[in-house]
This record gives sequence, structure tokens and C-alpha cells, in this order.
Amino acid sequence: MEAEEKKRSSNFIRDIIKKDLEDGKIEKVVTRFPPEPNGYLHIGHAKSININFGLASEFEGKCHLRFDDTNPSKEEQEYVDSIMEDIKWLGFSWGENLFFASNYFEQLYEWAIYLIKQGKAYVCDLTADEVREYRGTLTKPGKESPYRKRSVEENLELFEKMKNGEFPDGARTLRAKIDMSHPNLNMRDPIMYRILRATHHRTGDKWCIYPTYDYAHGQSDAIEGITHSICTLEFEDHRPLYDWFIDNLPLIHKPHQYEFARLNLNYTVLSKRKLLTLVTKGIVSGWDDPRMPTLAGYRRRGYTPQAIRKFCEQVGVAKANSVVDIAFLEDCLRDDLNKRAQRRMAVLKPVKVVIENYPDEKSEELEVSNNPEDESYGKRMVKFSKNIYIDRDDFAIDPPPKFFRLASGREVRLRNAYYFTCTDYKVDDKGEVIEIIGKIDPETRGGWSKDGRSPKVTIQWVNCEDALDAEIRLYDRLFLKENPEQVEEGKDFLDYLNPESLVVLKNCKIEPSLIHSKPGELYQFERVGYFILDKDSNKENLIFNRSVTLKDNWAKIKKKV
Ligand code: ATP
Ligand code: MG
Repeated sequence: MEAEEKKRSSNFIRDIIKKDLEDGKIEKVVTRFPPEPNGYLHIGHAKSININFGLASEFEGKCHLRFDDTNPSKEEQEYVDSIMEDIKWLGFSWGENLFFASNYFEQLYEWAIYLIKQGKAYVCDLTADEVREYRGTLTKPGKESPYRKRSVEENLELFEKMKNGEFPDGARTLRAKIDMSHPNLNMRDPIMYRILRATHHRTGDKWCIYPTYDYAHGQSDAIEGITHSICTLEFEDHRPLYDWFIDNLPLIHKPHQYEFARLNLNYTVLSKRKLLTLVTKGIVSGWDDPRMPTLAGYRRRGYTPQAIRKFCEQVGVAKANSVVDIAFLEDCLRDDLNKRAQRRMAVLKPVKVVIENYPDEKSEELEVSNNPEDESYGKRMVKFSKNIYIDRDDFAIDPPPKFFRLASGREVRLRNAYYFTCTDYKVDDKGEVIEIIGKIDPETRGGWSKDGRSPKVTIQWVNCEDALDAEIRLYDRLFLKENPEQVEEGKDFLDYLNPESLVVLKNCKIEPSLIHSKPGELYQFERVGYFILDKDSNKENLIFNRSVTLKDNWAKIKKKV
């Protein structure tokens, strides 16, 4: 157990929960994951999910899924559905603990009346601009609103009228009466309610006043008996306000907020607003485009939940912001797929090879392993005959230094088959190689030689006669800039897009057994990378996505940029 604990990356929240349980401060840990249904979940959310659901399960507590749906103008059912699907896909379960902040609108409204009656909240008629102006700055205290001294009766009456729709949108707000010269700006009479006529995805047109995040969140935590309300660092400055509401309301359960550093990934944007822009401008094909850092995108790209969870676990939970290298995420996937993926042969840029010394009519079946790392994956039969395809890039007319693959007069190993020596080749009018001619050594069936000689390089191939055509989509980072969120003057984050983030190859040749591949099944195309069948694929038009290359070759590419 101790060794197990050491293996885990540091997580200060785990330590806090452990201590609270040991000290008897809490009996059971209750966390929550509170997404706003205004976009799809991304890899940053996966970190939060992993923390909240992960810690609850580790300490045999519960984790609630609570939709933080207090802003009807941007929220949609599509997002609610996708969020639930993604959490389940990651392997977590909220069981019966599915909640919506909108379920608490009635209770929150009553508590607002309570605060008014206590003289701790008031209706304010200042416009949004005026509220901002009156708030002051970090160095300048704020000014009290002229409406701050309204009587309890007047406030009660106006607040009811706000609720009943008697004022236009934005005309009035309900504000907490705290302290306009408080050093923390969040404490300068923050807004609790705003008037907004928008149809809510659950409450419809019942309400035209909506609580703010600050007013709704902690109270929702209190209602649900959350013990550890875990959020990202930008809410640290909101904690005094979180506590103020908790302390000034007649609550039985008093939750606490803890902040951790959000996940940032280089070459990636994680703000939902920016991700939405990519979708609405058609720069990507949708929220699940395999280049998107959304869980739906990663799933379609071929990421496994295991790889993402391992990544989240290994980056740890810290109090200081940092940026994680995307190469680390890719490595987590490689590690996982290396164990999991079946091996197949595929040729992305096919060129025909004619084996002169192989009989015209003959063909044979070779037995090959589905995963050399795990014999339980079994074996399959692969056909071999006189005409096969290899990759154009595996042949050179004038091999440069360090090019050990095929060239005239050279011998290579054809994976799982024979040693092959090139004797000749044909080119078209443009000088492009269109056919390679050569001989196999019949004594090397299976890909090894009794005399102990071994070619430097093994290349993959597919049999011409029964090979299938496929479209292969090669994905790369969506941005060329390491930090696309840091935009130079006069530029936009879209100026840093990688024009080669998607390269589509048609007429690739793949092994016939791949006709049986199912959505979600992952393959290693030997020497090429890891691939998954895309959802656009069908039996007539097979499409595979490259999940990740076999090695990290970005360092090389980056030098060219
Ligand atoms: P955005 O700021 O882009 O709108 P958000 O943080 O507001 O995103 P929410 O739906 O409110 O998105 O997030 C739900 C939960 O996920 C919150 O508790 C939030 O702190 C957490 N979260 C969001 N982004 C990250 C991230 N990059 N790393 C870790 N946790 C995150
Ligand atoms: Mg948020």
C-alpha cells in the first residue's frame, strides 16, 4: 500500500481529505463536478473529473454531477448529453447523484429574501457600466450605490417585481450588501441576481431573474452536503465571498472550497469560447473533430479513457499554474496502445513491387502475430504473392547517407514474409517510381534466415490482389505556436493555426482483415502509427484516423517552422 501511494503523483487535496477523515471532521467525502453546459468537455475538465470522481471513489465517498446551469443564454441540452456521455466514457459514474443548479432556483430565491430581510442584500438600479464604475479598482476603494440604503420593505417589493417580470432585462440587480471598500473586489457588493429573459433548457420561461455563479455555487454545495468543493485557482479570490454567503445564510451544512491549478497544454486552446469559435467558423468539423482537445475529439482520434486517466493522474494536483507538454499526453497514449492495439500492415503511399522469382499463379498464407507484446491477441493469416505494395518512402533511387531502406541491389526484410532484394525499378515521365522489381530468397520464409544473415531494415507490405483501399487521415497539432492563448498585438489566436493539422491520404492500401474493424477498435499499422476507424467510415469507403505516431517526431518538425 505504501509503495502504491508513493507511485502516485502528488495531490495536496488527497492529503486534506485524508486528514479530515482521520480527524473525524467528516464521515464521508462528498465532492462534485460542476460543468456549465455551454460546450463540450475538454482535457482540462478530465483533470477535474479525475480529481473529483477519483478522490470520492478512493475514499469510498460520493461525487455528484451537478450542471451549473445558471446562465440560460449559452446553455443547451446537446451539451448536457455530451457531458454525461464523456464522463461515462472516462469510466466514472455519478450513480443517482445527478443534479442541476436550476433545481435550486426556488430555494436560492427564498434565501435571497432572507438576506434582504437581514439587511444584507438590496435591489440596485445602477446600469452594468455604472456598477463597474462604482466598484473602484485594486488601488481605489469603491463608491456606495445610491440605492444601497433602500428599506427592507422596498427591497422586498422591488425584488418580487423583478421576479414577476415587471422590469426590462438589465434594469435592476440584487446585490449583497458587504463592503464597497473591501480590498477584495469580489466583496464590493457583488451581484446576486440579474434580470434576463431567456428560455432555460430546464425551467423554460418560468424565471426571468437568474442567480450569478457566486451566489448559486456555494449554496448548491451546501444543499447537496458537499464536503470538499474543488475548483480551479481563478476562484481563490472568490472564496471569501463563497464563505460570506455560507456564513450569512441559515445553513446546516457548511462546505469548503479548495483550489488547484488548472491544466494547461501547449499548442492547445482550452477556453470554451475559443473552442466554440473553431466550431462555428468551420475551422474544425465539429466539437468531436479529432484535432479538438475535447474528450469527444480525443475519443474519435483514438485516445483511450485509460490513457487520459493516466495522464491526469501523472500530471498531479498542484497549487501553482504550469503548462504541460502535449508530447506527454501523446506518450501516455502510445504507452497504452502499445499494450492494447492489434498489429496490422498498411501502406500509406503505395508503390507496386513485382517479385520476379515468384510463380505467377502462386499465393500462400503466412501466419502472423496480432500483438507481439501479448500472445493472447492470437494470430491471423496474411496472403503473399508475386505482386505486393510497399511504401514509396521506403525506396530511394539514390539513397542518401543513413537511408537503410530499399534501393537497387539492397536486401530488406518484408515483415513476416521473406528477404527481398531489389534488382530494378520503373519510373514515369516525371521520374516518379511506379514499380519496383526484385527477388525474394525462398529460404527465408517467415522473415528469418538459417544462415544468420539479417537485413538492416524490415518494411511492411500488403498483397496487391486482396488489399483494400482506404482513406487515411493524419492529424497533427492544431496550433503552431506553443502558447496560442498568448496573442500578439493585432493578431488573433486563429493566426497561429497549423495549416497541416489534417492531411488526408486517399488510395492507401491496407490488409483485407481490416474490413472487419469496428468503431473504437485500435490498431498499430506497423512502422506507421496507431489508427482507429473513423465514424465517417463505411464498408465501401474505409476511413482511418491516425491517433498518434509511433515516435514523437514533432521536435524535428518544429525546427522547420
Ligand atoms: P471556460 O472558462 O472555458 O468557460 P470553465 O472552467 O468555466 O471553462 P466549467 O464548465 O465551469 O468550465 O468547468 C467545470 C469544472 O471544470 C470547474 O470546476 C472548472 O474549475 C474545471 N475546469 C475547467 N477547466 C479546467 C482546466 N483547464 N483544468 C482543470 N480543471 C478545469
Ligand atoms: Mg466555469
